[in-house]
Amino acid sequence: MIIILHPDISDKSPEFQQVIDYLANRPNIKTRVHQVAGALRTVTEIYVIGDTQSLDKTEIEGLAAVERAVRVSEEYRVVGRHKDDTREAGFNYNGVRFGQDTLNVFAGLCAVDVPEHVEAMMKALRDHDQVCTRMGAYKPRTNPYSFQGHGKSCLPWVFELAGKYGIKVISMEITHDSHLDEIREALQKTGAPTGVMLQIGTRNTQNFELLKCVGRQRDFPVLLKRGFGITLEESLNAAEYVASAGNNMIVFGLRGMKTNMGDPHRNFVDFSHVPVVKRLTRMPVCIDPSHSVGSREYAPDGIPDVFHVTAQGVIAGANMILVDFHPVPKKALVDGPQALLLEELPWFLDDVTIARAAYEKRQQSSQRYAARA
Ligand code: PEP
Ligand code: MN
Repeated sequence: MIIILHPDISDKSPEFQQVIDYLANRPNIKTRVHQVAGALRTVTEIYVIGDTQSLDKTEIEGLAAVERAVRVSEEYRVVGRHKDDTREAGFNYNGVRFGQDTLNVFAGLCAVDVPEHVEAMMKALRDHDQVCTRMGAYKPRTNPYSFQGHGKSCLPWVFELAGKYGIKVISMEITHDSHLDEIREALQKTGAPTGVMLQIGTRNTQNFELLKCVGRQRDFPVLLKRGFGITLEESLNAAEYVASAGNNMIVFGLRGMKTNMGDPHRNFVDFSHVPVVKRLTRMPVCIDPSHSVGSREYAPDGIPDVFHVTAQGVIAGANMILVDFHPVPKKALVDGPQALLLEELPWFLDDVTIARAAYEKRQQSSQRYAARA
């Protein structure tokens, strides 16, 4: 059960204490208090676990501090979408809204290499009114001898360049909790010219200690990628790890699944699950067409596969796109073959706009037909 308090109730007030005392007197009940920062207001929620069936919802809703109580199913208590659950979905971060109704593009380098390439990317983004990017400083590589990313040494200049070009959010993978401190320190040193979304990669979806670590902090939102070889339920439970530790600023990322089918794509594209994740949870859903497709291959219609699958995700309601670009893909240190060219950025954005408009039309159509039914 989740007990949502009135927005003006402080955790020092007697009304708050009354709720805690009420719950403390029940057998087999545990509570955890969370502050949830939404777009419009910050609310206190009390997550109640244990023998919640024995609790009287009406009685709880009668307590002065309580706005309402929601019974949640066992699964995805915090990130899930539950019956009679009108809690706000999504969050604002550094001036950017992330919801199940918005769409943000994070085009950028898979891995940070040299300042010239990072600057060229950011300038192109600014020139096309983009305020988000992806920049990998810590790279989890299959081969231990491959380039592992520049790590903390590149953070100050990457953040400064982001500030120079008006980038508000950089999606950046971390693979260890120490990376969080390094990012914090570099932001502090540079005067926080930008914001960071912590990316948990597909290889770390079930690194539970890392999940708890990004969940315990609330400075940065988290992009949690689906594990490429585990069930959707297991990946959604990974998101629940982050949320139950205290951070519910989570975007869930689809990035293709490993199959034993091999070609044509690097991973089996799973963007048909966009509406599924939106139905099961309140998280905004990201698609990563680059790591799904893995190449710059064109279809006979003249459209690259990366564009095609992006459009498929967007027309199904995706809320974020993480996509690899590079000014000189041949010189990219990681994933050059799948990087789109900077010259292709306006075309890509245009294609996204077409797909988004089609999605919005489909939504309007569904409302018209629902009204008639
Ligand atoms: C990435 O986005 O750079 C990445 C490594 O993705 P994934 O974790 O999906 O492989
Ligand atoms: Mn990559």
